[in-house]
Amino acid sequence: MTIHPKPTASPTPSPIPNQAPLADRTTGASGSEKPHKPAPFEQPKLRLELRDITHPATSKFLNAVDITAIFPTAVSKVQRLLYQSPSDPSTNVPPTRSVTLVLRDMDGVAYTTGLDLDYDHKEIHFSLDYIDRISPPSRLAAEITGVLTHELVHCYQWRALGTCPGGLIEGIADWVRLNCDLSPPHWKRDLDGDWDRGYQHTAYFLQYLETRFGEGTVRRINEKLRLCEYEAKPFWTELLGRPVEQLYGDYTAAEGKGESQNHMVDDSTQT
Ligand SMILES: [Zn+2]
Repeated sequence: MTIHPKPTASPTPSPIPNQAPLADRTTGASGSEKPHKPAPFEQPKLRLELRDITHPATSKFLNAVDITAIFPTAVSKVQRLLYQSPSDPSTNVPPTRSVTLVLRDMDGVAYTTGLDLDYDHKEIHFSLDYIDRISPPSRLAAEITGVLTHELVHCYQWRALGTCPGGLIEGIADWVRLNCDLSPPHWKRDLDGDWDRGYQHTAYFLQYLETRFGEGTVRRINEKLRLCEYEAKPFWTELLGRPVEQLYGDYTAAEGKGESQNHMVDDSTQT
């Protein structure tokens, strides 16, 4: 009853012909050497769901970007900016197992949600109407990639056990977007208002902190948001030695001075 394969078929994989044995291709000792490149972060399953292929923005989207390239690239950039490296003992990446990008007809720009059944599976909903309105068309690729990057941060950032101010969550997302060189032309440093207005306003403040306190400051903020509930005074004082209002005052003073002096003070703020 069993049908056997033809005798020429091999039941086990054969060695690849004309290739040196493994020991010869390493430095010789064994196969235990570490690779030269740092280990990559674990990658989630990435999916694309097109809810309305007749919507004009669906073809605009598909023509503007190679989603098979920009999606995994954006994930990697978000992982690198929020976390040191997968092998660093201080690295604690949320266990995001899949991200589904859903293009659909809806109000607004985009939002990210976890699935009810399993919060490690994320969905990014991106408005086709918004994509349709992106102007000029030459901005399509950068704007799509920028919004996708912002939403991917929400798949990977910590939120102080649900107590993180929304402005800080959105500020970190736009800080990553800023550091991927995907800031849109209309973004500018607006020094009016509070530090936690969110989006680019908070992103530029975070960039100031990153410059002043050193590369990795935003990563440290994100890591602290993993560990405890958010209480403004201890949070900023323990992390950066002073309250956030004082830090924001320093920022607005430095930026205001910078504007009047044509940004000549940049060097003095880097210590
Ligand atoms: Zn957001």
